[in-house]
Amino acid sequence: MRTTVAVVGGGYGGIAVAEQLDDVTDVVLIEPRDAFVHNVAALRGLTDPQWTDRLFLPYDRLLTRGTVIRDKAVRVDATSVTLGSGTRIEADYIVLATGSAYPFPAKAGTEDSATAKSRYHATREVLAQSGRVLLLGGGPVGLELAGEIRTAWPDKSITIVDPGDEIVPGDYSDEFRAELRRQLDAMGIRVILGTRLREQPPSEPGEAKTFTATLHSGEQVTADIWFRCFGAVPATGYLADDLAVARQAGGLLAVTADLRLPGQERVFALGDITAIPEPKQAGTAVGHAAVIAANIRALVQGGGEPTTYRPGPPGIVLPLGPHGGATYAPDWQNHVDPATEAHIRQQAKEREDSLLALNILGAEITSQLKGRHLNIEEYAELLHVNQGEG
Ligand SMILES: Cc1cc2nc3c(=O)[nH]c(=O)nc-3n(C[C@H](O)[C@H](O)[C@H](O)COP(=O)(O)OP(=O)(O)OC[C@H]3O[C@@H](n4cnc5c(N)ncnc54)[C@H](O)[C@@H]3O)c2cc1C
Repeated sequence: MRTTVAVVGGGYGGIAVAEQLDDVTDVVLIEPRDAFVHNVAALRGLTDPQWTDRLFLPYDRLLTRGTVIRDKAVRVDATSVTLGSGTRIEADYIVLATGSAYPFPAKAGTEDSATAKSRYHATREVLAQSGRVLLLGGGPVGLELAGEIRTAWPDKSITIVDPGDEIVPGDYSDEFRAELRRQLDAMGIRVILGTRLREQPPSEPGEAKTFTATLHSGEQVTADIWFRCFGAVPATGYLADDLAVARQAGGLLAVTADLRLPGQERVFALGDITAIPEPKQAGTAVGHAAVIAANIRALVQGGGEPTTYRPGPPGIVLPLGPHGGATYAPDWQNHVDPATEAHIRQQAKEREDSLLALNILGAEITSQLKGRHLNIEEYAELLHVNQGEG
């Protein structure tokens, strides 16, 4: 008798857990999209046409034994998943990996990759014609989008407005933010903090329409196009009563140290939907996936104590285009091999870069870590897709 594992959601965490359990269980991966979306590169997918189609990687080579069902979970209880089609899948274990929604262009906003590609291409054409860009939100998405737009169009006016007192909120250092501010200034990207628009812009995000917005501070900003760079919403509305108790205000799910829903033996959750106090990142979703895969494997094969998840110190790789940006990495030495550590130290020395002592990796290393390649190889490899064919 094989064990059935239903993995609900085929994003970063879902594909990792599905792949790791494929040899010992019957995995059923439930995902409404026709392709995996490499979100990490979505903003370059907007500005650089060579990246748009590369964001979408097919699922069909991910699993050897398991199956991928293109549908959406509309109800999940402790032992089964009901799909939009009405089909009910009974499972021995369920892994909830449904991630979060985010406004376009950070997330594609559609389940059909052809439609998503057309939307990125069409919005790029509109953006190319727009001289003044307003970005609402000074978190990682707003900053990264500003960097990508600056790289593609050196002459555009770019303004970021955020009601907070600082860019990139979270447990990062002031020196890290100062380094990003320095680079944004050098790139001619204006950042206005501590205020917000008095009224919503009169156009939809990504639509060409010139308007002048008045801020609460009294200042006015004229733009030809704007984008919303805030507002992640966890996708957890499908939980039936026995599981819904894990759902907190805002939609995040409480999880135990071994990443089960509280009181549930066989239902696990990972990634952006969890209430674990740590940055919501693909890397952490993949870390959760490894813990859950180890726990289900041990339960199936008769293992010992459950593996528990411990969040690491907060870190972030934040490119500003392919060649700019900064990385906050309090324990970076523990995550790289000795050769990489030596390379990073050598580069910092050559550039007389004092940031390294503050646990900040500068633009060049950030470019090497993410900015140039946007980590696509890693996920293409997991999905067994040759680069260029995705
Ligand atoms: C622009 C941008 C850049 C980013 N850059 C980085 C980065 O450089 N590094 C990093 O570590 N993180 C980055 N992140 C964050 C990262 O993308 C998320 O943290 C990550 O996607 C979370 O993974 P996940 O597996 O929890 O969910 P997701 O990757 O969001 O996947 C969830 C999946 O579940 C599916 N789903 C939703 N509802 C249902 C349902 N009812 N039934 C079935 N399936 C469903 C969705 O279609 C989706 O495919 C970035 C995010 C954005 C928006």
